[in-house]
Amino acid sequence: MSSTSKNIESVLVETRVFPPDERATKGARISGMAAYEALCKEAETDFDGFWTRLARENIQWTKPFTRTLDESNAPFYQWFGDGELNASANCLDKHIGTPTENKTAIIFEADDGAVTKITYKDLLTRVSQFANALKAQGIRKGDRVIVYMPMTIEGVIAMQACARIGATHSVVFGGFSAKALQERIIDAGAVAVITANYQLRGGKELPLKAIVDDGIAQGGCTTIKTVLVYERTLTDWKRVEGRDISFTEALAEVEGQGPCAPEPVNAEHPLFILYTSGSTGKPKGVQHATGGYLLWAKLTMDWTFDLRPEDVFWCTADIGWITGHTYVAYGPLAAGATQVVFEGIPTYPSAGRFWQMIEKHKVSIFYTAPTAIRSLIKAAESDEKSHPDRFDLSSLRILGTVGEPINPEAWMWYHRNIGRERCPIVDTFWQTETGGHVITPLPGATPLVPGSCTLPLPGIMAAIVDETGKDLPNGAGGMLVIKRPWPSMIRTIWNDPERFRKSYFPEEMGGTIYLAGDGAVRSADRGYFRITGRIDDVLNVSGHRLGTMEIESALVSKTDLVAEAAVVGRPDDVTGEAVCAFVVLKRGRPTEDEARQIAADLRNWVAKEIGPIAKPKDIRFGDNLPKTRSGKIMRRLLRSIAKGEAITQDTSTLENPAILEQLGQAY
Ligand code: ATP
Ligand code: MG
Repeated sequence: MSSTSKNIESVLVETRVFPPDERATKGARISGMAAYEALCKEAETDFDGFWTRLARENIQWTKPFTRTLDESNAPFYQWFGDGELNASANCLDKHIGTPTENKTAIIFEADDGAVTKITYKDLLTRVSQFANALKAQGIRKGDRVIVYMPMTIEGVIAMQACARIGATHSVVFGGFSAKALQERIIDAGAVAVITANYQLRGGKELPLKAIVDDGIAQGGCTTIKTVLVYERTLTDWKRVEGRDISFTEALAEVEGQGPCAPEPVNAEHPLFILYTSGSTGKPKGVQHATGGYLLWAKLTMDWTFDLRPEDVFWCTADIGWITGHTYVAYGPLAAGATQVVFEGIPTYPSAGRFWQMIEKHKVSIFYTAPTAIRSLIKAAESDEKSHPDRFDLSSLRILGTVGEPINPEAWMWYHRNIGRERCPIVDTFWQTETGGHVITPLPGATPLVPGSCTLPLPGIMAAIVDETGKDLPNGAGGMLVIKRPWPSMIRTIWNDPERFRKSYFPEEMGGTIYLAGDGAVRSADRGYFRITGRIDDVLNVSGHRLGTMEIESALVSKTDLVAEAAVVGRPDDVTGEAVCAFVVLKRGRPTEDEARQIAADLRNWVAKEIGPIAKPKDIRFGDNLPKTRSGKIMRRLLRSIAKGEAITQDTSTLENPAILEQLGQAY
């Protein structure tokens, strides 16, 4: 095969393999591949029995279920549908009377470094009191409540208290605008907003309550009766009489009341609605059920993170994202872990903050996003003092990533500099819609390959298919699907069941198979999954299928020059589609002449790494890339820029609008 016709899916073959060593396998919950395979086998031979067993072993049911999976109304699947439980009881009450009750549940580190610890027993007391306060405000089972809170113990309490009374929460990330908030309040028909006067991030005091006022003032939020305000700082806030009440006042009203008994709900009762980040269009209200979601949150803590009683777990995600739901607000508590909750940002007071906190709290499991890793690599290289080498990271046992494909280069840096070549990295693939991990290595079993999320968890029937739903062989790129339902899957899109069906269960594939929306390829040798980007991120250049992720990885592998890169396509008369690259350099922004030279160098580099067919036609340089507030690249914006279109999309979730101007010039 000549290099020009070389298919993208066969290149950048990663040959490095890191099998788990004895430290990782010894005593692991799933130890060795044989143990993993045995669980997969159990799920394949007796699907119903497998899930029944796990749901009985891992969840406390107030009313046991008799039906495991009901497929009669597919794709509106129901799990454990006649069972009853309470999510908060499964996270808190369950530990009372066990050694866990006096264990630290949360180590909270504030923006300014102040540390507060709370035990399981005390957390239960506070959740119970706040649940009473919510009831006193007239909030009932089935009501929707918006949570617009900073990363704090109170943020977790707000979510748990909603779950305790059977109210469905919808957390909105504290960086979202008034407009985004208003849209979500209206779509969810929320009766209350739980917020804070201000939040503290990077030494700055940023308003939350004022944005809630703004959002509601934009109109249409007629269902809102109450706004509860946590006074995070001493700064005054403006009160709307008859609607607003502070936490202190709301708690005072219920002082002396006994504990709030957890409200049993049906397993299918909506625990929460979470609007996806919007990197691909109008936000969707992803609805999750109580029983199946909680089961998977608990179980993946045990499986993916191999959680042990002495672990200190730290997931850096905000509670405004699914990762902060499953691996901050629910999973760690359901599993009885001690976890770190961090209010601030990774770069304040210096880019060594994460490493310093790992040292200080003796974190043993650290879970973060590739975007954070990439920015900290850049910082470590330019600022000696924030280099991880300066910190004692010996407490670390397991590392994880989530949110985007991780480039092999960034993976290796994480492995060397943070894991010190001792810690398995779990590259967890999942989505808001999947509720928890679906494809991920197991730290005590799976040989790791940088940049690969490896294999599906037991019971997750993932596959790669073509447009018609036909299975593709290893080595061929296609669409990632999950062929059988699983307990923590999305139940519907709130208010829009038709969109649910159309987006995730396409008719052409039979209407019952879950379409993830991501492209993937399995390696020829191990059958490992590698995510190649979203389905709409596969380009067709002169008849060659190019994964944008591959080209990005090639660009970023020019480590002396490139800090970050994003690739999208634009229509081209000659080649069908043309490759357009957006590049952040490690050095400052180049002059015109330098930009031309660097662009030429990068084209040659890509040609050498992948093949001339993948050479970017346009290259644009910026200090950063346009990202959502969860740190994901906004590809739909890049596509508009690449096409030279005016930007008409909703940019309400865009973090750094100024970057757009820098990207105007193509080289
Ligand atoms: P929207 O659906 O609104 O566009 P989003 O997809 O960015 O938002 P999430 O549900 O938070 O919102 O992200 C899930 C997506 O993130 C996946 O579909 C995938 O594209 C990407 N992703 C998550 N984890 C990984 C991973 N480990 N490897 C590769 N991609 C990942
Ligand atoms: Mg998505």
